[in-house]
Formats: sequence, structure tokens, C-alpha cells
Amino acid sequence: MRLILLGPPGAGKGTQAHRLTEAYGIPQLSTGDMLREAVAQGTEVGRKAQALMDAGQLVPDDVVIGIVADRIEQADARGGFILDGFPRTVAQAEALEKMLADKGLRIDRVIEFKVDEGRLVERIARRAAETEAKGLPVRKDDNPDVFRRRLDEFRQATAAVGPYYRARDMVHQIDGMASMDEVTAQIRVGLEEVVAGQRA
Ligand code: AMP
Repeated sequence: MRLILLGPPGAGKGTQAHRLTEAYGIPQLSTGDMLREAVAQGTEVGRKAQALMDAGQLVPDDVVIGIVADRIEQADARGGFILDGFPRTVAQAEALEKMLADKGLRIDRVIEFKVDEGRLVERIARRAAETEAKGLPVRKDDNPDVFRRRLDEFRQATAAVGPYYRARDMVHQIDGMASMDEVTAQIRVGLEEVVAGQRA
């Protein structure tokens, strides 16, 4: 099963991706995590990405597309994956479609998180406070100013990705403001057909 989790930062995609990984045994491919790892390792990609990430801006399409192309080649992703935070632009969506089509593959479903964007700023402040309380490092881009910039990027660059997939009838929308368990249940409903198709 190949899935995309689509929604603004702070919508809960990461949490749900972890749950889906456990439920279906397919890896979560988070471009944000991969980029943070590249920054931590000081690779060339990391050097290109760091300032943009710290400012809440998008990393160039070619950089992110390259990372995803490499990642989906790895053994654990051959049987399926959950993309979290990618694609974030229509150019990325087109590149993904092409790289999968070249292997005779396609995305099975796009789970679109509908959220009240006004409440996300509160949610992210809470996420930062909880992380800090656990003694873990807080993401630099989880401060309210940078977070607002990330939301702006979502509204500008990523807003067109939903319509791109809706036009292809691939989208299942869920209420991202519901409780975590309710969101998980809504996602499972959206995947029933895909799971049934795989059993058939
Ligand atoms: P995330 O963890 O998904 O919120 O991503 C953190 C940051 O990484 C974003 O604010 C961007 O700077 C960068 N990033 C992650 N995924 C992408 C992507 N698909 N396209 C461009 N930039 C990305």
C-alpha cells in the first residue's frame, strides 16, 4: 500500500503515520525527518536545506524529489510506504507520479487532513511545551513565528496539491481536529477499499 498524508504542519500527520506503520508494516517516509537527518550529518543536502528549514521555507523541489527517489528504492519501502510531508508542491506530485509510473506503481490513496488552521498555532505551541517538558530538544521551526511562515508556505505552495489528487479521485478527507483515535478510525475507513483490493 502506498499512501500520502496531506495536510498543514501540525495537523497530526506524523502521529498517524506512526500508527499506520504499526498497523500495516510499511515505513513512514517523512521528508522533514530525512532533511533534519541530513542537516545533523552535515551532508551537502543538509547544508542546502538548513537555512530554509530554520526560516520555515520550502527546500527546492529537486533536492526533495532526489531524496524521495533514493528512499523509495530501499528494500523496506518496496512493499509500500506512507509519505508524510511530501509532495508539498504540484511539481513534487508530478515527479512522484512519474517515478512510480516508471516502476509500474502508483499511489493508492491520499489522506487529506482538514484542520482549523487558526487552532494549529496553539497546537504547535503545546507540542513544543510537551517536548521541552520531556527534556527533549524542541524543533527550531516549532516556534510561533516560524510556524506561521510554514503555514503560509502550505497555503501558497501546497494548497494546489489537494486539488491535483482530487481531480484524480484519489483523496479521502478526514477531520484532523478530531481526537487521535477518531482520526485513526477515519483513516482506516478511507483505506478499507485499498486493503480489500490487495486481498482480492
Ligand atoms: P516537516 O517536518 O514536514 O514539517 O518539514 C520541516 C521542514 O522541512 C519544512 O518546513 C521544509 O523546510 C522542509 N521540507 C520537508 N518536506 C519538504 C518538501 N516536501 N518540500 C520542501 N520542503 C520540505
